[in-house]
This record gives sequence, C-alpha cells and structure tokens, in this order.
Amino acid sequence: MTSVDRRDFVRLNAAALAGAVLIPTPLRGGEPGTGTRRPAPSGNRSPGFYRFGLGDTEITVLSDGHFHFPIELIAVDDPLDVMAFDVDPERREEYFRSNLFPVDHIPLQASPILIDSGDRRTLVDSGFGAGPDSPPTGGRLSSSLAAAGVPPESIDTVILTHAHPDHLGGLLDPQTGAPAFRDAEVLISEREFEFWTGEEAPAALEPDFEAEPLLAAARGVLGALEDRVRTIRSDEEVATGIRSIPSPGHTPGHIALGVESRGHELLIVGDAVVATHVSFEHPEWHLFTDIDREEGVRSRRRLLDRAATDEMLILGFHFPFPGLGYALEHGDAYRWHPAGWNVLS
Ligand SMILES: [Zn+2]
Repeated sequence: MTSVDRRDFVRLNAAALAGAVLIPTPLRGGEPGTGTRRPAPSGNRSPGFYRFGLGDTEITVLSDGHFHFPIELIAVDDPLDVMAFDVDPERREEYFRSNLFPVDHIPLQASPILIDSGDRRTLVDSGFGAGPDSPPTGGRLSSSLAAAGVPPESIDTVILTHAHPDHLGGLLDPQTGAPAFRDAEVLISEREFEFWTGEEAPAALEPDFEAEPLLAAARGVLGALEDRVRTIRSDEEVATGIRSIPSPGHTPGHIALGVESRGHELLIVGDAVVATHVSFEHPEWHLFTDIDREEGVRSRRRLLDRAATDEMLILGFHFPFPGLGYALEHGDAYRWHPAGWNVLS
C-alpha cells in the first residue's frame, strides 16, 4: 500500500466510522436501555400459506408448522434409522452430511393442502391440531387458514391420506373436542379405517412403534367423528377432479391423490414420499416408519415414476415448505426439482 493509498484508506474509514455514529439508533437496533424497540423473538417461524392455480382450481398449501421426528416413539437408536433403516451407517451418514442434513435429529414440516374448485373446498390432511400432545411448533393450521382467508366452516370435505396423528389431529377442536371443520365430511380409505379401528393395528405396530399413542390418536378422532366419516376406495374419483391413488406401505391404507383441472395435473404424495432428498435419490432405502417397508419402497417408486414420466407437479406433506416441485429421472432413481414461483399461474 503506498502512502497515498494509506491516507485514502484511513480517510475513508474515518468517514465510515463517522457515518456509523450518525446512523439513527433504532436502525442499529436493540441495545438495552437505549429506548429502542426491537420485538422479542416470538419463535413463530410458520410460513403461513402458498397459493397457486392449477387449471380452474386453486391450490393453497397451508403450514401446520414444523417438528423434530419423535424417535422415542419408535424402536431405533440412531435418528438416521428413521429415513435410512438397514443402510450401512457410514454410507448413510456420509450421504446426510454431504447434503447438509443433520445427522442427530430429523426435522420435518407439516403442510395440509386446500383444493378449491370454486364450488367445493377440500382439505387434504389436517396437521397435528393444537392439543397438549402436539409439538409446540406444530398445530398451526387454524392460523394459516385464517391468514389465507379461509373460514374453517367453509370447508366441505377433508380427505385423509392416512390416520397418523400429524395428519388427523387437527380434525378436532383441542378445547372442546368438537369437529374443527363444522360442516365437513371426512373421507378415509376403507382399508385405512379398518386397520386403525379393527383388531389388526396393535400387533402390526408392535414392536417397532409405541402403539398406544398412535392408536389413541386414530381411534379418538375417528370415533369422535364417526357420524361424518365416509370410507372410500383406494382407487376412485372421490370428487370432481380428485382421484385416490393406492400407495400402501407407510400404513396399509395410505392413499396419494391426483388432482386434475383443464389438463393440469398435481400429485399429492402424503407420506408415501416423505423427503426431497432420500426418498427421491434413494427410494429403495427403507423408511423405519413405514409399517411395511418393502411395500413402501414399491409405492414410492410407482408414484415417482408416474410423476417423472408425466411431468406432474408434486406436493409433499413433509417437504420443505411449500413442498412443490417435480421428479426428474436420475439413473435408476430420481432428483427433486423445486418449482419456482414463476412456474405457476
Ligand atoms: Zn406424516
């Protein structure tokens, strides 16, 4: 540095320092005792809603919040067992680390979906609900609906992809136990309903899952809503432009949903495809939380193959919000390609 450069350097820095002194205190923010107002962190990081058009239908993704998978409820020692069970520990750890995913916990989001066809509002899954057993960062569907301007009583139908607590817990008002969606009919696949309400579930869940909380949630909600639950087949048109697609494995009666309007197609995968990394890049890796893991692999591959071949938009309940994108074929697996804001009408 020459002496002239040095002088300029010192002068410029002096000016910068003087400038810093002149910055109004509120813009610098927050020193205690200065009288500035900086809101305390609320911890509320729920992103609200994301809306887009699909032909004549309007789709709104609604955040129920986020949570860390409660591994204490399943029989695993290592959090990576959740999404990569039976995979060599070194191999999977290298995979998670190289993708910058944590290896000591499993962060997930939860995002129910509203399908508004103009004359009918259909909600797909309902999140955790804001009850005492829900994660403190979950159960935010009602505030996301309010933010999106959708009164709960305007919902005509709720379709459940399956009967896990993070998908059906929001069907009941946590204070009163009354239906959270006063005028809505609740659709669930016949197979799923039979599994959770019949004799089969306890033995199928043990010893891998702590059965009691899962059973209590499914039976409690489905029992309370008995008079408004209608069972559907796993492969039928359940409403105009909405088709159930069998995708067993995660649970025996799990369904995905195909939504179509004026030639535009959307595939709602539920928990048949749970993550945008492992589930796409290693669909053959076993998800511990699939009740039938081999069947889970087959369903995952079938859905991703269809989505990739037909270039269908995909929405995933547990994907990073809003969880909207495409599957691209990549070797004998797939790659997640998120849809940009500009892609959609
Ligand atoms: Zn789930």
